[in-house]
Amino acid sequence: MSKTAIFTWIQQGQVPESVAELATAAKALGETAACYAFGADLDDSLAADLSFDGIDAVHLVNTPGLALCQSDGLAEAAAQVMTADGLTTVLLEAEPAGRDIMSRAAVKVGAGMTSDCTALEVQDGAIRQIKPSFGAQVMVACEVKGAPEIITMKKGSTAPADKTAAAPCDVRTVEAASKITCGKITALPSSDHLTGADVVVVAGKGAIESGQFETVKAYADKIGAALAGSRPVADQGFIPFDDQIGESGTVIQPKLCIIFGVSGAIQFTEGIKGDGTVIAVNNDPNAPIRGFADVFICADMGELLVAMNAK
Ligand SMILES: Cc1cc2nc3c(=O)[nH]c(=O)nc-3n(C[C@H](O)[C@H](O)[C@H](O)COP(=O)(O)OP(=O)(O)OC[C@H]3O[C@@H](n4cnc5c(N)ncnc54)[C@H](O)[C@@H]3O)c2cc1C
Repeated sequence: MSKTAIFTWIQQGQVPESVAELATAAKALGETAACYAFGADLDDSLAADLSFDGIDAVHLVNTPGLALCQSDGLAEAAAQVMTADGLTTVLLEAEPAGRDIMSRAAVKVGAGMTSDCTALEVQDGAIRQIKPSFGAQVMVACEVKGAPEIITMKKGSTAPADKTAAAPCDVRTVEAASKITCGKITALPSSDHLTGADVVVVAGKGAIESGQFETVKAYADKIGAALAGSRPVADQGFIPFDDQIGESGTVIQPKLCIIFGVSGAIQFTEGIKGDGTVIAVNNDPNAPIRGFADVFICADMGELLVAMNAK
């Protein structure tokens, strides 16, 4: 049985896209992983949806009566599974629910936990967990001393693994109580349209300051691209926070990323460093984004967008 595991939580029968990315990350560690899916009432047909290259077994863990917001009960269930199966490394997506559940589980099983990792490396038999720190001013390489270790990976940090035929699957039930009463649950917007997009157009503060945000948006619509923004653009309410790119936002890996009016702070570029081709438009020839982009166009975006939208 694999001692490396991917943990995920299933809502309304939907497998999060991150499972395919975590399978790639696990495989890069040099061994296959088992995927553990937790949910209130799981159907074994899910095994096919959870089977990716890098995953050698699927475990469906029913947690009756527990909704995703009941982190205390789900943490107890996760800790029970980690202990029963002797798991040494658990990978999960860096998102609020999983982090809440697994930080509690970490305390229960005495695990070390690193959050928001963007890359993993194996060195001298240990997993080095690379993550931005101190407001993404630096990248640090962490190692957890001993086992088990729990690692959250930022979505978009690795390419998704290919689907495979359904892996061997077992179904079990773990009873765990919660002290939290769960009321009405309302789904919030997600950034899935960005992480899965081939082409992303990004508006920066320069687009707002020059009154060109709507023109950038029209250009994104025209070429069928997803629209995103830098932090000031989200702060000022031009885009939802989920559509903010960067260290404190979403990490994207489109084939093409076209950026208008972003200076190129490291907290921003952390979100696009896995992108295919990056084209940046900026009227400042010394903007730091110049050193990051594959193609730098030194121009006023207004004039350029008028021409591009007219084509
Ligand atoms: C802890 C922490 C976390 C952070 N996380 C993030 C994050 O996740 N994402 C993020 O984006 N930021 C983040 N930031 C903020 C980050 O440091 C920068 O302040 C931010 O990225 C700047 O956004 P910007 O490039 O859009 O704006 P600016 O830095 O103001 O740049 C605007 C650019 O537009 C150009 N411009 C202006 N007018 C035009 C025009 N007409 N045509 C062409 N170009 C023009 C200017 O030359 C300039 O380079 C974080 C900061 C901290 C401290």
